[in-house]
Amino acid sequence: MKTALVIGGSRGIGHAIALELSKTGFDIWLTYNSSPDAAEDVKTEVEALGRSCELFGFDVGDFEATQTALADRCEKEPPYAVVYNAGIARDNLMLWMSREEWGDVLKTNLDGFFNVTKAVLFPMLAKKEGRIVAISSTSGQIGQAGQVNYSAAKAGLIGAVKALAREVGRKNILVNVVAPGVIDTEMTDHLPVEKILPLIPVNRTGIAQDVAATVRFLCSDEQNYIHGQVIGVNGGLAM
Ligand code: NAP
Repeated sequence: MKTALVIGGSRGIGHAIALELSKTGFDIWLTYNSSPDAAEDVKTEVEALGRSCELFGFDVGDFEATQTALADRCEKEPPYAVVYNAGIARDNLMLWMSREEWGDVLKTNLDGFFNVTKAVLFPMLAKKEGRIVAISSTSGQIGQAGQVNYSAAKAGLIGAVKALAREVGRKNILVNVVAPGVIDTEMTDHLPVEKILPLIPVNRTGIAQDVAATVRFLCSDEQNYIHGQVIGVNGGLAM
């Protein structure tokens, strides 16, 4: 039985990824930080699909907490798939952006990827199989005004994944990025959709399932040769 570690799986896109992967036979290790009740609800949904779901609560920006939560567990039995989905936005124009807004976003969206990868990589390399998918953003590909912090972190993820792909491809670990555009979740519920829609050729915002289906494919046996790529899921917002 394969296990998928979904980092930031309590809400939104991570929730959809956990369900999609469990539907295709993965047992789930689901992490959360500030939403334990939502994580419990996802666990119930995964179990209703006939798969197991183990919960891990920690802040991905905290290196020690991440190692404490994951390192021993992964040493015993590494997950086959790791989806780095945890992320926050603290939008502001650069002129007004505080050090905290910059630091918090870099810590969760980029340092967290380092912290999690440090915990899982050695056992995955030893097992010589696996998939790593990082959830970046269109903002990391083309930049977004008001998101200098977020765009930097998400572009950083793309660079990190491409470099990691060059390091671990030989060990049968495929590493890729999924870069969503505007997806309907709590993160985007304040955005003026009427102003954004004209920029999206398919004339709709995305749903979490659009992203989850792509992650599911990247983690599946159907594909064995996509590696070091950035897959946009954005309705044509960026191309
Ligand atoms: P969301 O609904 O706000 O969910 C964010 C998830 O990340 C939650 O499960 C949250 O867990 C977790 N998380 C946040 N900070 C964390 C921390 N310090 N430690 C551990 N977990 C943490 O956001 P979403 O829209 O689903 O976004 C998911 C990912 O997609 C993010 O990386 C985001 O940047 C990216 N993305 C989203 C969009 C979009 O339009 N929605 C577009 C492009 C990219 P808790 O609630 O338990 O803290």
